[in-house]
Amino acid sequence: MVLRILLLLSGLLRATELAPRCEPGQETLGQCQTVQKAKCVDISLSSCTDVAYTQTMYPNLLDQKSRQVIEYSSEYILISVLHNLLQGECNPDLRLLGCSVLAPQCEKDKVIKPCRHACEHLKKNCLPAFDAIDMAWPYFLDCDRFFSGEEEGCFDPLAKLRGEPEVEEDLPSDLPATFIRFKHHSYSQMVSILKKTASRCSHIATTYSIGRSFEGKDLFVIEFSTKPGHHELLKPEFKYIGNMHGNEVVGKELLIYLAQYLCSEYLLGNPRIQNLINNTRIHLLPSLNPDGYELAAEEGAGYNGWVIGRQTAQNLDLNRNFPDLTSEAYRRAGIRGARVDHIPIPQSYWWGKVAPETKAVMKWLRSIPFVLSASLHGGELVVTYPYDYSRHPLEEKMFSPTPDEKMFKMLAKAYADAHPVISDRSELRCGGNFVKRGGIINGAEWYSFTGGMADFNYLHTNCFEITVEVGCEKFPLEEELFTIWHENRDSLLNYMEMVHRGIKGIVSDKFGNPIKNARISVRGIQHDVTTAADGDYWRLLPPGTHIISAQAVGYSRVMKRVTLPTRMKRAGRVDFVLRPVEVWPNKLLRRPMEDAYDPYDPLELFDPHAQHAQPEPRGGSAQAREKPWWWSYFSSLDLHKPLWLLKKH
Ligand SMILES: [Zn+2]
Repeated sequence: MVLRILLLLSGLLRATELAPRCEPGQETLGQCQTVQKAKCVDISLSSCTDVAYTQTMYPNLLDQKSRQVIEYSSEYILISVLHNLLQGECNPDLRLLGCSVLAPQCEKDKVIKPCRHACEHLKKNCLPAFDAIDMAWPYFLDCDRFFSGEEEGCFDPLAKLRGEPEVEEDLPSDLPATFIRFKHHSYSQMVSILKKTASRCSHIATTYSIGRSFEGKDLFVIEFSTKPGHHELLKPEFKYIGNMHGNEVVGKELLIYLAQYLCSEYLLGNPRIQNLINNTRIHLLPSLNPDGYELAAEEGAGYNGWVIGRQTAQNLDLNRNFPDLTSEAYRRAGIRGARVDHIPIPQSYWWGKVAPETKAVMKWLRSIPFVLSASLHGGELVVTYPYDYSRHPLEEKMFSPTPDEKMFKMLAKAYADAHPVISDRSELRCGGNFVKRGGIINGAEWYSFTGGMADFNYLHTNCFEITVEVGCEKFPLEEELFTIWHENRDSLLNYMEMVHRGIKGIVSDKFGNPIKNARISVRGIQHDVTTAADGDYWRLLPPGTHIISAQAVGYSRVMKRVTLPTRMKRAGRVDFVLRPVEVWPNKLLRRPMEDAYDPYDPLELFDPHAQHAQPEPRGGSAQAREKPWWWSYFSSLDLHKPLWLLKKH
């Protein structure tokens, strides 16, 4: 990345050296000294060519008097490389915001200031990305200083990002906002509709990216919650992932429709949807493999596309690219007292090719305490649940249950039973092979494979994930999408509501201080879940009587007996107060959770979500070590070192 920034910087400088000229609209006096005539001129800054207007005026809002001055400025260079520095976070939004100050819109020879609300909204979302690389919020994006209110007639530099998709030309203007268009969406149309939906429901929705695909496309998520962007105490986190195989496109479209449906129905007051969103934080990632999708879409709908576009641009199958923790789980299962959960990623995994998409999902899993998930595939009509990897490596079709077999079956049935075609008893229909099993099957019993995402979720995190094959055609014709949505809609809702099964609660000490990474164990199930940062936990459990215990390093263990009635649809609240103990209590106490994460795990490096600072580049001088790693590039730029980039500690 460092090299790329350097190349970019030198490219910028070279470009400006080649083209020293005075601006049109300015009268030239000798060496380009100008008489200010305050006229609109064309924008000719290469980093701002995609703004939604064509004209600007010099001097700009920073009193920079010409194009050259701007191009040589640290402010301009910063917005040109921010995309790389922040690893794609908040872009192009941040760059467009920067452009609105460096090259503000000009109309009828008047400068129009950018809107303060756009700045404030972006700052709220993007400040953590700056914090992650130890960079101060740039002074020229000071929302009070350079931006103005709507009453003063500002322009929204980010309206374009929330605006119309390129080819929505034929929509009549009187369509209600609740109208869902059942079509295939290109990548940019998908991004546009997600952003549009989030802005229509801005009090309960937001969008963010978990990282980038190999070809640099943002992996966009739309989130629904009453406090978008934040985990709330005891509120369970849910996710849907679509289009992991780029040619299996139905899941992607279903999630785009689901986002619009959730937004509209919430606004209309649908009690089921309001209840769901008020009590759950929902993340929808419609396309995990946007590069593969593009290839498949070139083939076109209806052409089946059994292979083209399945893999990523790097030719990796994402559902084979996760670490194999299942083999280790089988080894541990035979050891008395060993737990089959939170298994660390073996170092050897990183020696192989790890897709950026896979890495993005792993970082995402680490940054949010997910409870339940489903990955939407296509080409069959069946719901599968872990393990996907056979417990005998040579058996390709072997029933291979997890310790949570009963719960996983319930989860799979929650999707299958609400689906009118899956619950149809005819063996002649699509997916008919699975009729005798009620439309669900253990993954390894169907066919075994290693490196899958569902096994990884279960064995490395607290999250339970199933895989849904949402239909027999991988890339159906557009006409079929409406029917497919109707067949899957109730299943999608039903499954999300399952996140409220079992028990949840808080583990704390007697003073009420939360204890994170405490283990919640269930007698008879060799799989623990752990508490999140605020001491809250969720344990999906089938109805019945369970003996639950909570334990943490340095505290004594507390046990409780819990009975969950069959019809109970809300998680039972079970809190634990732990007493500190002087000495290491007994051998039964497992090793602390911190051990589960390998300190050399590259996921911890360059992680915008990580809690700690970025590592220094190797061989840095003592002086460089005091400053953030990116400082040397900026400080070498010109006479005026952009000290404003440094945080005041
Ligand atoms: Zn698939």
